Parts: sequence; C-alpha cells; structure tokens
Amino acid sequence: PVTSPADGQRAYDLDRAHVFHSWSAQGSLNPFVMAGGLGSTIWDFDGNSYLDFSSQLVNTNIGHQHPAVVDAIKAQADILTTVAPAHANLARGEAASRILALAGPRFGKVFFTNGGADANENAIRLARLTTGRDKVLSTYRSYHGNTGSAIVATGDWRRIPNEYSRGHVHFFGPFAYRSEFWSDSPEQECERALIHLERVIQSEGPASIAALLLETIPGTAGVLVPPRGYLQGVRALADKYGIVLIFDEVMCGFGRTGNWFAFQGFAGDGEVTPDLITFAKGVNSGYVPTGGVIISESIANAFEDQVFAGGLTYSGHPLAMASIVGALDAMEAEGIVDNAASIGRDHLAPGLAALAAKHPLIGEVRGVGVFWALDLVSDPDTREPLSGAVVAQLKKELLARGLMPFVADNRIHVVPPCVVTAEEVAAALEMYDAAFTAVEADL
Ligand code: PLP
Repeated sequence: PVTSPADGQRAYDLDRAHVFHSWSAQGSLNPFVMAGGLGSTIWDFDGNSYLDFSSQLVNTNIGHQHPAVVDAIKAQADILTTVAPAHANLARGEAASRILALAGPRFGKVFFTNGGADANENAIRLARLTTGRDKVLSTYRSYHGNTGSAIVATGDWRRIPNEYSRGHVHFFGPFAYRSEFWSDSPEQECERALIHLERVIQSEGPASIAALLLETIPGTAGVLVPPRGYLQGVRALADKYGIVLIFDEVMCGFGRTGNWFAFQGFAGDGEVTPDLITFAKGVNSGYVPTGGVIISESIANAFEDQVFAGGLTYSGHPLAMASIVGALDAMEAEGIVDNAASIGRDHLAPGLAALAAKHPLIGEVRGVGVFWALDLVSDPDTREPLSGAVVAQLKKELLARGLMPFVADNRIHVVPPCVVTAEEVAAALEMYDAAFTAVEADL
C-alpha cells in the first residue's frame, strides 16, 4: 500500500489537536499512527511494519482485513445499511442462529448490543429482572466495560472514580501466582477461592443476589486461567443459591482460547455452562462495533409474556450482523479456532516457557490458545512487580524490532490474532528474546 509520511504527520497532528482518548490524561499522549493492516501485520505511514501481537484491543481474532468479512460488509451495504431493532432482518437472524449453534443447546436467543460494556449492562438487567434481586457479585481482578453497571462491576482501578451505583459486591477469584489465600497449590487455591466466594454469598444474603458475573478467563487483569474445578464450583454455588451465572466472554470468546467459547475448554471436568454469555470483540473481530448477550432457553422463555425493559437503536445493526456471518463462516471454513489451539499448544506454550527460562524478568507465563501473559518481576523470589519504567523500555525495544505488544501494568500479554502462523510466532519470539536481552543489559 502507498503511504506517505506527510499523511502520517497529518493523522498525528489532527489526533493530538482534536481527539479525546480513553482512560488517559490527554496531555502526555504519543499515539502510534496506524496506516493499515493485513492478517497479523500492521504498518505505519513511514514504511515500517509490525507483527500485531496485541490484536489491537485483543479483538482482531480473524486478523486484519480478512476479505470474507470485508466483502460481507460491502455486500450488506448494497442491500440495507440500517434497520429498526423492532423489524426482522435476515442478516440479524443468520448471525443469531450461528452464534447459538456455537454456544450449545442450553441457549435459546441472542440480544445484540453495540459492544461489550452494554452486553454486560443488559446481562445484568436480564438477571435482575428474572430474579427480582439486585446485587451483582464480580471479582476485583476484572474489567467488564465502561457503562453504568459494567464499570461498577469492574474490579480494577477504573471502577473507583465511577462508583456511583449501588448493588455491586466484589470478591477475589483464584490466582495462584499472587494468591490472596496463602495457597501453595492450584488445588488449594481453587478450594479456598470457592470457600471465600460462598462466604461472601452468605454474608451478602443469597436472596439479594441476582448475578455472579465473571470473565471465564480474566483477560486485562492478566490472563488468569482458573484452576481445574473452579468454574464447576462457581456453577454449583449459582445453582445452590438461585443466582444467574454470567460468563463475560467479550475478550476470551470466539476462538481466542482455541475453543469457540473459553468455558468449553473446561467442560471435561463437569458442568460449567453459564446462564448468560456476553460477547463482542472476536465475534466479528471488531470490523463493525457490536456485541451481545447469549440467553439460556429458560431465561429467554421467562420473557415470552414479561416485557424486557431494555433496547438500543442499533441492536443487531445490519453491517455488524453481516460481518458476524462473514467472520464466523470464514473461521469455520478455514479452521481458525483450531489454528489458535495448535499455535498455543505447539508454539506459544513451549516458546514462552523457553523465554521465561532464559529471562529472570519473566516471573510467570500463563495462558492458552493465543491468550497469554508474561508476569514481569524485578525479583523472581519476592515476585515484586516490574516497575513501569522498565516495562515501558521493553515496549520501546519491541516496537523498534517490529512487534506491537499489548502491555498492562507489569505484564506483556501475548495475544496475536487466531490466524497467526508458526513462522510469525517464531519471528515474534526472537523479538521478545532480543528485547528482554537489551533491557536486562541496561539494568
Ligand atoms: N468485558 C471484557 C472482558 C473486556 O475485555 C472488555 C473490553 O476490553 C469489555 C467487557 C468491554 O467491551 P467494550 O469495550 O466493547 O465495551
């Protein structure tokens, strides 16, 4: 593609003059100017290309500019570009039926939203309306989105300045590497985290709790893969106390873990299916903003006569729906979810373990599929998180070598698109290795 440095400068200047950015003090920003992308690669206006091991905001599961998705959007644009939510629309029905087929027989309907936050907002609404209760339990290590209830359900720092609504309670999920429960094995971590959760439920009063909301694998908080049995234990507690179980699969769903849904990867140990699944990002790789709630047959049935008090002008927007159909059909036809699984098992798992063995700054590697985190430490014994300044230096070294990383707190998340190839992973591993070597030499 033809790009000119002058266009890049203009993009940068317009952004700095006129664009207000998320989650930032505006004065200190220095945004990367992206000109284009294809597959796992992106480029700027100066002729530099980068392996996109961030998948932007962990959403381009099918990679950049997949022709099947771009063509589906173009074809829909020629047919109908907008439709009222009350009307039936073919693209919306096709998208819903494909999503339900992937989620499994427990689920009956899909409610479409504009993104992930309002997916959680409406899942919470559904849980409150069906139970007649108001409290929502979620974990401290979580992100659920930037709307009224979703941001208060979030556990991380972004909740605190926005905490105006009542009815939210937080608890600690399992995280063996930085255990809140003094555990020294995954089994102990699992058992103690479940005892803690049941005590929170009992102390809050089970009859006041509408929903248990958790990311199946907490993503932004650090790719915290739960120990075996934890999700089954949560499912059992939800059943015992009549609480609606919501799995937030906005980041971990649609292929990222090497399964269509992350919870399906835990099914070998017993019943783990939630009552509601929230999704966005990977369902269409973000080519058009969309998200939604996958609703169990029994909750959907509860609204056959009862009114659902919720709605959005763009619920099931046709361009978004066409892009979902295009993306899911291409992912199926091209074996893209299986690719994520085998890349994780055969390339990222051993490659990142070797990286950690070589570099003492990497305290722990955890993940599955194309969903990994490197937990960085200044001291492997105390597990003291690595300072922000050194993490920033690592980011700089990676960009200089042609890799766009995903950085969160003291971690680098290794989250390429599900279409990433073994050769691209090998190239990326060399870049991570060289960047760590360079930074360690300066310490
Ligand atoms: N839930 C999870 C797990 C997420 O990772 C995110 C976004 O990163 C959201 C919800 C919010 O999605 P959105 O930004 O599309 O509103």
